[in-house]
Amino acid sequence: MGAPRLHAYLRNEHPEIRSFLLDFDHRMYFFYHDYDYAWYNMCNNHFFDQAQHLQFEKFLKCEPNDKLLIFTDPPFGCRTEPIAGTLRQLTREYNKINKLPHTPLPIFWIFPYFSEHYIQQEMPHLHMCDYKVNYTNHKEYTDVGDKSRKLGSPVRVFTNIPLEVLHLPVEEAYKYCVQCERYTALENRHCNKCGKCPSKNGSTYRHCELCGCCVKPNYVHCKNCRRCTQAEEHNCEMYQANQRCWICQEKGHTEMNCEEWLNYCGASRLVYGQNDKVITCLICRKKGHNERNCKQRSKYLEEVTFMGVTELKFK
Ligand SMILES: [Zn+2]
Ligand SMILES: [Zn+2]
Ligand SMILES: [Zn+2]
Ligand SMILES: [Zn+2]
Ligand SMILES: [Zn+2]
Ligand SMILES: [Zn+2]
Repeated sequence: MGAPRLHAYLRNEHPEIRSFLLDFDHRMYFFYHDYDYAWYNMCNNHFFDQAQHLQFEKFLKCEPNDKLLIFTDPPFGCRTEPIAGTLRQLTREYNKINKLPHTPLPIFWIFPYFSEHYIQQEMPHLHMCDYKVNYTNHKEYTDVGDKSRKLGSPVRVFTNIPLEVLHLPVEEAYKYCVQCERYTALENRHCNKCGKCPSKNGSTYRHCELCGCCVKPNYVHCKNCRRCTQAEEHNCEMYQANQRCWICQEKGHTEMNCEEWLNYCGASRLVYGQNDKVITCLICRKKGHNERNCKQRSKYLEEVTFMGVTELKFK
């Protein structure tokens, strides 16, 4: 979906792999035939030509040993909801054509790391892989050339394939992390306190004891906000209005002002020392971790996923 260069590469270099291109650019008519290309809008799963749609359905019909995957590289301005909706519809169509019970199709979705939250909200089974995708035709999305980002491309691969099975090339600055049992970026140092390789943006994070998690290296801790953040132009009120609460995960407040939690357990539980060197979890009152990583969370909160949207409910 929207990945003409990959399609061309597979056709030329790996003719044993069958590929079908769905693309909004109808100039592709000049290069491909109806049996491997359809003019298509991935935002609403729309085929402009019904004959091409029939060809695509033929392509979806698989033999028992065939393996199919969807690879999509949407424009980064696209909203994640319609793309996720399309991926679900294509999976349903595939299952219907092949008379399968609900079977997920492997998905590779190329998108910037900072959209992780939006993708996971729509498709909780997609996880971000550390692999940095370089675009030769976009200066800001590559680590090649002098105008490139210092931290390398911000574009990543999101997939429902277990990250453990993805083998990233060590010669391109990736390493195998024994604790995480997967390949991560070389600069992504494993944190024993967080129990993971925490970096998302291509820098080496450091562990903040007052946040109870790893943070970007240039961030400074604000006690008032209970978060590490950029030091310049920090305004506590404005900042907090854009934060997601670590207890209820709603946007617009931090844990200290969580109405739901306050109603649930009473105001007395929200007190903790301003001079502490280590964070105190507001849920279990133990030190050293924040509410997101609290092992007691499930005692109080229940995550309900319905139609791909996850909601938190107090028990
Ligand atoms: Zn690790
Ligand atoms: Zn950490
Ligand atoms: Zn901090
Ligand atoms: Zn602040
Ligand atoms: Zn809250
Ligand atoms: Zn806790």
